[in-house]
Amino acid sequence: MTSSPSQVPVGVDPTRPSIARIYDGFLGGKDHYEVDRAVMQKINAAVPEAVDIARGNRGFLNRACRFLATQTPVTQYLDCGSGLPTAENTHQIVQRAKPEATVVYVDNDPVVLAHGRALLEENEFVHMTEADIFEPPQVLNNEVVRRHLDFSEPLVLLHVGTLHHFEGDGAADVMREYIDALPSGSYVVFSHFFDPGVPELTAVAKRIEDILVHGPMGAGRFRTRDEILAMLPGLELIKPNALSEPGLAVCDEWWPDGPRLTPLSDAAQCIVGVVGRKP
Ligand code: SAM
Repeated sequence: MTSSPSQVPVGVDPTRPSIARIYDGFLGGKDHYEVDRAVMQKINAAVPEAVDIARGNRGFLNRACRFLATQTPVTQYLDCGSGLPTAENTHQIVQRAKPEATVVYVDNDPVVLAHGRALLEENEFVHMTEADIFEPPQVLNNEVVRRHLDFSEPLVLLHVGTLHHFEGDGAADVMREYIDALPSGSYVVFSHFFDPGVPELTAVAKRIEDILVHGPMGAGRFRTRDEILAMLPGLELIKPNALSEPGLAVCDEWWPDGPRLTPLSDAAQCIVGVVGRKP
């Protein structure tokens, strides 16, 4: 995408980088502007394998959706910060197992909303709406959300690759408000940039965090295991693979599709995923 004014969609500011476009760019998408590429180049120069963070995250999202659609009876999905449509989106995965599953996507990026409305409203069970996902009442009282999701029945809440873009100390409060609103039997799918607390890996995390937090993005925190677990109050965490105790795992190690053929890169170890059930 070029940034000539005639080609910029309404509502898009091509002078400000966008989380959605940069993440999509790392996944191979083409909807980015010069300002986004400048951030991507800085990250790639600092950590050449940074792409593994985006790939690991998206793979986790896809496998978690497959797991929930096939192993639980839940058929309602609220996908907060859904991002640009890519090869496999939440509704495509869950509707393969349960064609009647309802998915409501929420985002506030104008490019996501434009593509989303066009591409994602593929059937009567898929919806997209605009809200600030860091303001839970905006999502929980959103008219589209309330019309299509029944909060008296279990649902799946996805906050995948979102809360690390929340600056400040209130991320746990944001998640608590969402979890409080979920009925018993609901699931939460969550991923977050991770500081593993191992010096050489923490150094990798800090190199990316510095670019994100101190650059034009202004946000992008790598949080510790305890900080991330504090965002999931009252949930029973499921086992992330056959060998581990219930809890979080590096995204690539959350029920991988098979034995790993190559070692994980340092960057791949700086994002974790978790699925929890509200008792
Ligand atoms: N969940 C998808 C995934 O994991 O593949 C996309 C993750 S992408 C890194 C983060 C998404 O959150 C972007 O689409 C961005 O526009 C959205 N987002 C960030 N802050 C938001 C906010 N305050 N309100 C709504 N959406 C937001």
